[in-house]
Amino acid sequence: MSKDWKTRTTLVHEGSRRSQYGEMAEAIFLTQGFVYPTAEAAEARFLKIEGDEFIYARYGNPTTRMFEERIAALEGTEDAFATASGMAAVNGALVSLLRAGDHVVSSRALFGSCLYILEDVLGRFGVEVTFVDGADLDQWRAAMRPGVTKAAFFESMSNPTLELVDIRGVAEIAHAAGALVIVDNVFATPIFSRAVEQGADVVVYSTTKHIDGQGRALGGVICGTTEFVRKVAEPYMKHTGGSMSPFTSWIMLNGMATLDLRCRAMADSAARIALALEGDARLGRVIYPGLASHPQHDLAMAQMGSGGTMIAFDITAGKEAAFRFMNALEIIKISNNLGDAKSIATHPATTTHQRLPQPQKDALGITPGLIRLSVGLEDAGDLIADLKRALDQV
Ligand SMILES: *Cc1c(COP(=O)(O)O)cnc(C)c1O
Repeated sequence: MSKDWKTRTTLVHEGSRRSQYGEMAEAIFLTQGFVYPTAEAAEARFLKIEGDEFIYARYGNPTTRMFEERIAALEGTEDAFATASGMAAVNGALVSLLRAGDHVVSSRALFGSCLYILEDVLGRFGVEVTFVDGADLDQWRAAMRPGVTKAAFFESMSNPTLELVDIRGVAEIAHAAGALVIVDNVFATPIFSRAVEQGADVVVYSTTKHIDGQGRALGGVICGTTEFVRKVAEPYMKHTGGSMSPFTSWIMLNGMATLDLRCRAMADSAARIALALEGDARLGRVIYPGLASHPQHDLAMAQMGSGGTMIAFDITAGKEAAFRFMNALEIIKISNNLGDAKSIATHPATTTHQRLPQPQKDALGITPGLIRLSVGLEDAGDLIADLKRALDQV
């Protein structure tokens, strides 16, 4: 079969495995273990697992394997390991690679739980982390310690202020120092970000977000070379229990069939909404990488070819006005997921980033009036009307 498939074909068919029944839809193999025809066969399989053989669901499962093959093909990596959550993927990619005495350079603008791993967990095991302003390549360059720095870690588009990191630029600097580039690509989505083509060695996702896309299940994935995925990440993940369940894999497989269509529809709406909000006197800033006013607009277009599905904006009148605005929304829900079919408004200062001390909030641009908007699949005109009506309440 020819495999020069385009994205949408890959998303529907790649990795499909059929049982002797020839079922059309991907089957859920809700089984923890597998039966061996003989004791000798069991012995042989424990010695070496061949192509389509499985031993135990924590090590691998046919449904999970379908998902891993499909996302690896989408991402353009040799392999992938599916994990129980996005955080299991971030933790697994870092901890499986690093040892006491190693050094990591990381962008400062991170998802709260990622920050916990880099700030608290790694230090406890003797790994030193230097935090830099992700958008400033000079800081990346200055922080590298050739031979000692083992990884550069960043979110390709940061949460919640949608700042981009130049993947090519950081990869060049990190590779010159002998470090691997590990990218959390959640906000940029696997549709818009080609992180591997741009120099990333390992890409991690929370599949809880756009890949499920309907807010049903937690999941994650580590994508990389066969060497990294099977020799570095897999032993750590399968022995520490962070594997994806077959049921979750089935949900993610189904999410992937529509991933390209959904991300593009959401990004089209996000672009319309950002334009409709820009210039509104009640807003201090409208942050959307697809707007010409975004300081990294050119980088966003070169790196993603799109502004993505997320918008952030600042209600100048502050926290109480921001709360009045959120409470007045009718279609858009107050929650903290993203990439969902349902549009979601989040107040980062009091929820996702509540625990950050004020100086850190200030440094990251998390103002009292900042709203993060995950644009869903509703009609863009309805969403604009909802936002404008709620803004009238501030
Ligand atoms: C949500 C998220 C995670 C964590 O994923 P979970 O599936 O919630 O564990 C990590 N990084 C980023 C950027 C995220 O948005």
